[in-house]
Amino acid sequence: METSIIYRPTKAVVHLEAIKDNVRNVKTFLGAKTALIAVVKADGYGHGEVQIAAAALEAGAEMVSVATPDEAVRLRMAGITGDILVMGPSPVSFVTKAAELGVAIAVSNESWLKEALSESKSFTQPLKIHVKIDSGMGRIGLRDAKALQLLVSAMESSKQVLFEGIFTHFACADEEDSNRTKIQFKKFMDFVNSLATKPRFVHASNSAATLLYPEYGLDAVRFGIGLYGIAPSDYVGERLPFPLERSMSIESELAFVKMTETGNSISYGATYETTQNEWIGTIPIGYADGLRRGLRGQDVLIGGERVPIVGTICMDQCMVRLPREMPIGEKVVFIGRQGTEEIKMEEWAKRLGTIPYEIAVSISKRVPRVYPK
Ligand SMILES: *Cc1c(COP(=O)(O)O)cnc(C)c1O
Repeated sequence: METSIIYRPTKAVVHLEAIKDNVRNVKTFLGAKTALIAVVKADGYGHGEVQIAAAALEAGAEMVSVATPDEAVRLRMAGITGDILVMGPSPVSFVTKAAELGVAIAVSNESWLKEALSESKSFTQPLKIHVKIDSGMGRIGLRDAKALQLLVSAMESSKQVLFEGIFTHFACADEEDSNRTKIQFKKFMDFVNSLATKPRFVHASNSAATLLYPEYGLDAVRFGIGLYGIAPSDYVGERLPFPLERSMSIESELAFVKMTETGNSISYGATYETTQNEWIGTIPIGYADGLRRGLRGQDVLIGGERVPIVGTICMDQCMVRLPREMPIGEKVVFIGRQGTEEIKMEEWAKRLGTIPYEIAVSISKRVPRVYPK
């Protein structure tokens, strides 16, 4: 992307230095005993999986993790040589490739492993396994001690696998009420303590738990949204143990500017009508870029001022009401800072009734990610 020519001025600027600072700060906060697993699933939360993985590893993350086998394969193919964990379910058909690439996978049941091991003759090196425990998330993971025993015996009886980790995932760590998280942690530790030998990585925490419950850090944490400078929730955001640095801004430029007299309608459906003489600017970004139609009325920043989007957001363009005449080419910030103003993904999320995670991952592929040096 960096080397290709980009004509349209709409872009997502990703600050890898912010990612690295977040990695270093969370590592300092955790201390030397707890490894950092940088979560780069969903194209690095929309920031670019390869660039984020490389930056996080360079800044000292011990491992990266993804949600799907394909994401892991892509990272290896792109030259990421560090440890990679696939946290979500993998099909049996992936295990030979996983072993070959040295990618660790999550396993949640013995019968799955037995099926996988029937392919193990083709393994070129042992398959790394992180056992997933369902301590209350109700998604994937084994749910009772007997299932764990069966799985451990199956792993021990094979030289083709390496029992490298055991982990669980919190459902409510970003909320004020810590009760469910405490119960989940205790339940998980009961599983862990039932093991005769513990694997190298016992891990439980996502970003919220990393930031709020450092005592649950164990051997490693899986740090996702925080890596990108976004708090998992308002509750966590108000209690950060160290500041997080924002890593993405979304920018464009005015492509067309006109004075519109009173009573003219703007955009599809003619639902916005000028009530006075208004300067209307057109910007080449629309819902196909992730500027969802529900963001009508949202402010953007131009010349350090907040300016509202007016009328229906189109697939590829949108209109704003300017405070005065402004030149074509004037910079427009959709997410990020300009002067003393800042628009955060949280602001979009509130307007859309969602969480900033969903905003980050819904900036579409059409928006080039650029990485200033
Ligand atoms: C996505 C994910 C994480 C990271 O969660 P954040 O809230 O973004 O830190 C950690 N663990 C698992 C299993 C996940 O799926």
